[in-house]
Amino acid sequence: MIDYHLHTKRCHHAAGEMVEYVEEARRKGLVEIGFADHFPLDLLGYEPKNPVTMEGEELEEYLAEIDSLNSRGEALPIRRGIEVDYLPGREGETRRLLQAYPFDYALGSIHFLGDWDFTHPAQVKGFAEGCVPSIYDEYFALVRRLAASRLFDIIGHIDVVKKFGYDSHEEHMEAIIRETVIAVKESGICLEVNTAGWRVPAAEQYPSRAFLQACFREDIPLTLGSDAHCPSQVGEGIFKAVELLKDVGYRRVARFHRRRRYYQNL
Ligand code: ZN
Ligand code: FE
Ligand code: FE
Ligand code: ZN
Repeated sequence: MIDYHLHTKRCHHAAGEMVEYVEEARRKGLVEIGFADHFPLDLLGYEPKNPVTMEGEELEEYLAEIDSLNSRGEALPIRRGIEVDYLPGREGETRRLLQAYPFDYALGSIHFLGDWDFTHPAQVKGFAEGCVPSIYDEYFALVRRLAASRLFDIIGHIDVVKKFGYDSHEEHMEAIIRETVIAVKESGICLEVNTAGWRVPAAEQYPSRAFLQACFREDIPLTLGSDAHCPSQVGEGIFKAVELLKDVGYRRVARFHRRRRYYQNL
């Protein structure tokens, strides 16, 4: 199986050497992996309160290290992925930068609402201080803009707003899923099934089963990622996610090379 969402210590909140991630992938029997570390926010003119990405000057060496791991000629291809924050208003700059580097795929993710990093453990109090359904509305409106921007190949952890266990009510979620799946379908983008949700208070993969069922009905392609921030997390939950996808009805997942999609049977 594949794991398309691995971080590196360059992002300031991950640990371990890239070669250790690769060795762990081989131990777990993965057939292909992709690093998708956090794209340098300084290049997009955005400065978060807590640093969570590599610096612009590290991007070349990040890609060079992936190439050097690949050139060891082992049977495990390593893709050049990147996880990019979708920043509304920065679409032109984002497109230009993504075209300037030889990525195999770009995950578009949302971690910020304004200057609030709602995925950061140090900033979780924003949920208690705010109105959760409004936060969900704001977040998913941005997800739909991300999809419509057509900047990225994959949407990362599409319902990550549930990370810390603050949920909106069921009817609200049904409406959100309905509207969001329409936007995703129109854009042609692929979704990531991200197993990191099992490691956090949400205690559920991203996206939820209801989301996945709605995606299946619309024939929306999916890929797989663990969001590993240390070597032992590589491949974590991936085989469990495969079982879930088969149960929902999926028979294949998407892989990427030079930003072109192809498929792998489950
Ligand atoms: Zn991270
Ligand atoms: Fe992320
Ligand atoms: Fe990530
Ligand atoms: Zn992530």
